[in-house]
Amino acid sequence: MKAMVLNKICSLEETKNPLEMSDVPDPVPGEKEILVKVSACGVCHTELDEIEGRTPPSKFPIILGHEIVGRVVKTGNNAGKFKIGDRVGIGWIYSACQGCRFCLESNENLCENFRATGRDANGGYAEYTKVIEDFAYKIPDVFSDSEAAPFLCAGAIGYRSLRLTGIKDGQNLGLTGFGASAHLVLKMAGHKYPHSKVFVFARSKNEREFAQELGAVWAGDTDEESPEKLDCIIDTTPVWKPIVEALKNLVGGGRLVINAIRKEDVDKKYLVRLNYPTHLWLEKEIKSVANVERRDISEFLELAATIPIKPEIEEFTLEEANKALLELKERKIRGAKVLKIHS
Ligand SMILES: [Zn+2]
Ligand SMILES: [Zn+2]
Repeated sequence: MKAMVLNKICSLEETKNPLEMSDVPDPVPGEKEILVKVSACGVCHTELDEIEGRTPPSKFPIILGHEIVGRVVKTGNNAGKFKIGDRVGIGWIYSACQGCRFCLESNENLCENFRATGRDANGGYAEYTKVIEDFAYKIPDVFSDSEAAPFLCAGAIGYRSLRLTGIKDGQNLGLTGFGASAHLVLKMAGHKYPHSKVFVFARSKNEREFAQELGAVWAGDTDEESPEKLDCIIDTTPVWKPIVEALKNLVGGGRLVINAIRKEDVDKKYLVRLNYPTHLWLEKEIKSVANVERRDISEFLELAATIPIKPEIEEFTLEEANKALLELKERKIRGAKVLKIHS
């Protein structure tokens, strides 16, 4: 099969084509696994972290991609949850031990044996992929393949972040950074918390305009002061400045939730601006979001179908994966980028 393969860690400043189009053997489904013909695979910021080594793949060569929608074409031994032809999704959680304390408490995202799709196992930048059937999800009919792809990560982790803010209806929500995940959170918040106001902080004017089109009551630059104090803020940026700047806008007891798998070091020195009375005093909290568990994906898919929300998407071919990744790196973002692989 054809696949876009990452052979080694590299810097995207120096390499414009980190992935190489290759011919690799078709995956073979094992015990309780299904073989999936990939229809669409979303392009996520985490791929940049993998390519540049901030969350390095555990093997090379590796096929990236963890926002996969496709159809079951073969089932392994003792796999009976799906039929041939069923449409399924695969997200960042590829597997977890299912036996440890975290797994049993429904925190399988914290499992020590958590394996990630497209990092610890081959993902969806390919014609076919395979997964344990219990880690695949039925996709609601209302979505096209490409529309559903970003839901598997950006949507599910956005759902988890919103859950971790502990927001109550009527409280003010801030979003700093306005990419694929944040724009889904904005739509979700509008449905789940209709009396809450959403304030968006974004560096680019396009993103700010887009946020207001989608219902934000206010949008300003990353370091601006919001017109009202915020009960919680979700950060989806890859850097440090937005964290420091967000904290000053929180009410006492407010919570900042950081939804980023890794932060880049480019502006780490901004952290020395952290001023205790302005940014942390009055019981302000900071919490990170780690990965997703299966529950986040299935609950979000259901919620998205009910509202319904549809992501803004931009399609690329499999061959154009490098182009999509570079545009993401350069923050040329208007909605979610998706590789359309089979129709
Ligand atoms: Zn992702
Ligand atoms: Zn476990």
